[in-house]
Parts: sequence; structure tokens; C-alpha cells
Amino acid sequence: MSYDFDLFVIGAGSGGIAAARRAAEYGAKVGIAESGRLGGTCVNRGCVPKKLLVYASHFPAYFEEAQGYGWQVGERHLDWSKLIRAVDNEVTRLNGIYQRMLDNSQVQVFRDRGVFVDAHGIQVGDRKVTADKILIAVGGKPTKPDNIPGIEYAITSDEMFHLPHQPRRFVVLGGGYIGVEFASILNGLGSQVTQIIRADQILRGFDEDIRTQIHEGMAKHGVQFLSGTEGIAIEKTESGLKIHVQSGDQETVVEADGVSLAATGRIPNIQNLGLENTQVEVRQGAIAVNPQSQTAVDHIFAVGDCTDRINLTPVAIKEGRAFADAHFGGKSWQMSYDNVPTAVFSNPEAATVGLTEAEAVERYGAEAIKIYRSRFRPMYYTLPDKDEKTLMKLIVNQETDRVLGAHMVGDDAAEIIQGVAIALKMGATKADFDATVAIHPSAAEEFVTMR
Ligand code: NDP
Repeated sequence: MSYDFDLFVIGAGSGGIAAARRAAEYGAKVGIAESGRLGGTCVNRGCVPKKLLVYASHFPAYFEEAQGYGWQVGERHLDWSKLIRAVDNEVTRLNGIYQRMLDNSQVQVFRDRGVFVDAHGIQVGDRKVTADKILIAVGGKPTKPDNIPGIEYAITSDEMFHLPHQPRRFVVLGGGYIGVEFASILNGLGSQVTQIIRADQILRGFDEDIRTQIHEGMAKHGVQFLSGTEGIAIEKTESGLKIHVQSGDQETVVEADGVSLAATGRIPNIQNLGLENTQVEVRQGAIAVNPQSQTAVDHIFAVGDCTDRINLTPVAIKEGRAFADAHFGGKSWQMSYDNVPTAVFSNPEAATVGLTEAEAVERYGAEAIKIYRSRFRPMYYTLPDKDEKTLMKLIVNQETDRVLGAHMVGDDAAEIIQGVAIALKMGATKADFDATVAIHPSAAEEFVTMR
């Protein structure tokens, strides 16, 4: 049987584009469907515009610190519209780059939604195409709690990049990655930020020391946390929003401008995809796949957030490339989910790779684990005389001397942990860290001098 395409990809986000280009480079005839802007969540309403706003939010602190180094800093104010426009222009530039990359790889781009009509057939706009293999790479989308009356007044991260005005009073519901990043951004840009979290601390699942350090750091920078608190209703008023919250049997009201952000998690974006016209299995709201990203149907595969494994852009890209290498390049390899580094671009920033202390204790027993910690004021903050601290933590298996986890909170944590992640991936021991000569003076050197 002949098909229109060797591979058809539904969704031109990080995973879909990586797989499509790699397969086309091996000579496969590839089509890709995307109804939104090319690049998916990461480029359009995630990592990229978020990181640009993170950079913008650091300037007030830099202006203050510059004075410790003898600089006189004059009048300054933020032009919100200019910032939002500049970020959007950069996203548009990247959309163009993705289009050119797909064109250069001779991937045929369909600017429409792809919907399964049968196991080999996909409706894209008014066309039906067929493909030998199909890759689902449709990503995820924000979800809001459905038990809070008035939740429709809260926006999600999707809308955060196009706010016409800077909110003066900004309320965040949720204490995950997205909540802490936007709380830090708006706080840095000068908004008054309240973050409502139902746990006692932000970032459930991260190492406890790291959670505490970020939480305290953000609070010191001015974010007001309402811990152990749930939003119970949102009410629209003349001047903005009233968010009714409950902590134990205490009820209070927090006021926001027109916007409050619901950062309460993301779910696979697999509705209206025509999956019912295939035998693809959906488990707990996500597309079920084996370690080769294969669904219950032999020739249909899925990568990225729609499979709800580790929901990070670089993971989706690797999953996409592993699929293309195996099926179009004759090079079979399996994506490894061990020691996947990740960063939270909060202020202070955090990054981590490997096991948390709690995970290490659970896996190897408390006696087998040795913890190394270093908490210090980086040299940069001495002249501005600011009480900013960096925390670094290593988790070591005493029996094998292997470093099981490396965690950091502080400036450049993501840049530093990326290198440490290579060491962990290679199975480095504490003796290997100790044998490495420090770069002095740097903050990173603490990772090789901890005793
Ligand atoms: P997370 O799942 O990380 O966090 C959701 C937060 O919302 C938690 O604090 C959770 O609380 C809270 N929550 C959930 N439901 C409710 C509710 N009904 N009422 C009150 N609070 C609630 O989701 P995010 O949206 O922050 O991020 C989604 C994913 O996006 C992450 O898993 C991550 O992989 C990815 N991401 C990665 C980034 C990066 O790499 N820097 C940046 C942004 C996103 P509780 O802990 O109590 O359950």
C-alpha cells in the first residue's frame, strides 16, 4: 500500500519539529500539521518568552547593585508595552526560523489542525492525507481547577505574554514551576505579588532544602506567600478581582487588578484529535507509549507533553530524535530518563539534577547517604552589601562514592548545573569532584571543594 507520506507529524512544537527534520534528513517524505504558530508552547508561550521576561525582571536589582560598584544610576522606568512588543517580535523571528528550517529540510508544512480519520489517515483542513507512520506531538495545555466559582476570571500562562498593562497587584494560584516563575517575574518588574499555595512550601517534588531556599529567597524579594491556603472563589469587582481564600477555617480576601494567574498544572492536549478513530490507548489523560514512544498501534508514535513523561522541551526533542533515528535512520537508541537536569527560573534561580535527598534515602537507606552543603554569599554581593545567598548541595552514596544528586539555588544555577549534569550522567564519584581543580574566584568552584 502506498501513502502520501512516510511520516506525518501532528504538532509543530519542540518534539514534532525535531522528529520531522531528523526523519527528512534521512530521506523520508515528511508532512507536519500545525494550526498555531510554529514552535509550540516553548517558543510561543513558554520557555522563550518567559526567559526574556526573567531577564527584564532582573534589571531593578542590577540598578541597585550597580551603586555598590560606584555607578550613579539615574531615573528609570519600565515601558511595559515596549517590553511585551520586543518579546513578541523575538517570538515572531523564531517562528520564521522554524519555517525556514522545515522548508530547508523539505518537510511539507500544513497550517491546519491534524485530526485522525482512521489509523493511517489524517484530515488537515480540507485535505485528507495518508502516512505510513504517524507521530503525535501535540503537547500540553494549562488546566484550571473546576471547583472554584469565578475561575473563568483567572488567566493562564498562555495569556501572560500579551497583557496590555502591567498588573499592579498580581495574584498567583499554584506553587509549581509556572507559578513561581511568574511570581518572580512580576515581583522583579515591580508588581505587588501574592502567591497562594495549598502546601506549606512551593515546588513539591524538589529537594526540601532547595524548596526552602527558593521560598525564603522569593519572600525576601517581596513575594507574599499564603501557604496552606486554597482559593475558594473569584469575584469580579469594579477595580479588579477579589480572590476569596481559605486556610483552615479562616477565610480572607486578596485583591488583584484585572488579572490573577491560575498556574495549577498542565494536561495533555489530546482532545478533538480523532483518537477514537484509532486504537491508540489513553491512560490517565495521556497517550500511553512504550519506551520507544510507540502507542498501542504499531505505526503510531507519540512524544513530548502529550505522553506526560517528563514534561520538558529538551526531553521532547530527544524523544523525537530517538524515534526518527530508530525508524528512518537505522540507529536504534532509547531515551534515558535518568539524571535529567532541570531549572526553575525563579528569583533566586534554581537548578537540579539527579535524586533529591528524600529519594536517595528511600532508594539506598539513610545510612548509605552523605549530604554535602555549602551556603554562602557570592562575591558579587559583597560591594552592594546585599544579603543574597547561594545554596549548593551534593547527595553522595557512601558505599559507591557516586554523586546521586546535585542541587543549587542562586545566580546562574541553570548554567552551572548543566555542566554538573554531564558528570552525573557519566557516573562521577565525589572523589572525581574533589580531583577537579576549581575555577577561582567563582561560585561554581564550591561544587568541587565541598567537605
Ligand atoms: P505543576 O504541576 O508543576 O504545579 C501545579 C501547582 O498547582 C502545584 O503547586 C499544585 O499544588 C497547584 N495546584 C494544582 N491544583 C490546584 C488546585 N485545585 N488548587 C490550588 N492549587 C492547585 O504545574 P505548572 O503549571 O507549574 O507546570 C506544568 C509543567 O510545565 C511542569 O511539570 C514542568 O514540567 C513544565 N514547566 C517547566 C519549566 C521549566 O523547566 N523551567 C517552566 C514551566 C513549566 P500541589 O503541589 O499542592 O499539588
